[in-house]
Amino acid sequence: MDKRFPLEDQIDMLASALRGRVIAPGNADYDTVRLTAAGNFDGRRPAAVIRVATAADVAAVLNFAQATDLEVAVRSGGHSIGGHSASNGGLVIDLRDLDSLEIDAKAATAWCGAGLTAGEVTEAVQQHGMIIGFGDAATVGIGGLTLGGGVGFLARKHGLTIDHLLAAEIVTANGDILVVDADHHADLFWAIRGGGGNFGVVTRLKYRIHPLPSFIGGPLILPATAEVLAGFVAAAEAAPDELTVIANVMPAPPLPFLPPALHGQTILMGMMAYAGGAEAAERALAPFRALATPLADLVGPAPLSSMYIPEDPTLRLSVTCRSLFTAGIDTAQASEILAHLDRTDAPMKVAQVRVLGGATARVPAEATAYAHRKSRVLVGYLAMYPDPAETLAQDYWAEQGITALRNGEDSVYVNFLGTEGHDRIRAAYPDMTWNRLRAVKRQYDPENLFRLNQNIPPAA
Ligand SMILES: Cc1cc2nc3c(=O)[nH]c(=O)nc-3n(C[C@H](O)[C@H](O)[C@H](O)COP(=O)(O)OP(=O)(O)OC[C@H]3O[C@@H](n4cnc5c(N)ncnc54)[C@H](O)[C@@H]3O)c2cc1C
Repeated sequence: MDKRFPLEDQIDMLASALRGRVIAPGNADYDTVRLTAAGNFDGRRPAAVIRVATAADVAAVLNFAQATDLEVAVRSGGHSIGGHSASNGGLVIDLRDLDSLEIDAKAATAWCGAGLTAGEVTEAVQQHGMIIGFGDAATVGIGGLTLGGGVGFLARKHGLTIDHLLAAEIVTANGDILVVDADHHADLFWAIRGGGGNFGVVTRLKYRIHPLPSFIGGPLILPATAEVLAGFVAAAEAAPDELTVIANVMPAPPLPFLPPALHGQTILMGMMAYAGGAEAAERALAPFRALATPLADLVGPAPLSSMYIPEDPTLRLSVTCRSLFTAGIDTAQASEILAHLDRTDAPMKVAQVRVLGGATARVPAEATAYAHRKSRVLVGYLAMYPDPAETLAQDYWAEQGITALRNGEDSVYVNFLGTEGHDRIRAAYPDMTWNRLRAVKRQYDPENLFRLNQNIPPAA
């Protein structure tokens, strides 16, 4: 790139070479397009956001970034908790126009553009009576979610999102457009199943889709006592694989099915997901309903898409998240969780407990870069608040909460990391996985072009 030209002119030249659209500070929609989901990073102003239209566009942008020494951020759904899909002064490769979707119901596969969200793909495959297991929020991008692992409502029945992944199209740092699977670039295919965005820009993902003839799900709301929370986790561990649950301990939102006196009181909102028939679901749910008289019970036949948490697009909030894999939650830990929730004044706060096991645990640890296959419980604190200036205080609160739950355990799920930094990224991978990831990184991105992420440095 000829550095005699001002950057703006060089970006104009790039724009003329692309099928997609370049949005620079002079464009009317720049201030909307540059934002990601979390308000913490609203201050970042990239040199340009590039809404790529093809994998070849991605290759051209990567080439341009290297010629101009501009930082590269990669964005699918924009839900990075660490702000990694927002750049200050660099280039944002925004994939959301890569929204192709080819479902082959007979072969039980789906090729999905990396710009699609979990909700969009779920709605589409559901039309065929099929399903892919994503997470608990519809607007999260399948790109970031899948590359980190993907822990959701089918984790015990069908495993993580990466356990559905059959192949991916990826543009590497040197501009190669590769299709990777178990037989082609198997090392790279291994690394992108848990290693995040470190190895290239994934433009399309091919998933195995599963039939879902019957699904029973919804919120079961219980009083939030230590005994109920510990009992809930124990019941979830003992449940059949068809049942995956997420316990959200939080102040009751003003939902119409909750009595007004409960609004703002701490409740346990159990999100119950049974991938199977109604009678067996009743049996599996009985131990949870027996823990205490439910405050509300909305569990019943429903599409899986109804499980996604309702989101208000008009609310612009900053987000804090800290988490840990643990062996379980006993009554003392449950007590601590309830007490800790009272120690923040964030308007929205949740302690979330996800029980893993089942199909997730049956995949060998070395089969994918997500290696915490035997970790049974994932616990996290989340706070959401309007003023980004509160971030440090809320991070401190969440950090303290996690520290108190550590029982010698340290490992963490990479997709629930925020801005913690190297030590916590390291805790996302056991030594063997980490060393193998670094070797793959050296092969495909030796200069660490993809460093705006939970970064895995190339092996020396
Ligand atoms: C409200 C909320 C709910 C969540 N629920 C769950 C859940 O239930 N289960 C779960 O597992 N996780 C969950 N997460 C975490 C989520 O999986 C991660 O934040 C994920 O990175 C978001 O993906 P994204 O594409 O939306 O984000 P983005 O901000 O677009 O991407 C995040 C990072 O992923 C990488 N990346 C994204 N797309 C690509 C791509 N196509 N190619 C290369 N690199 C890419 C980049 O490094 C990027 O910085 C949740 C997060 C939020 C905010």
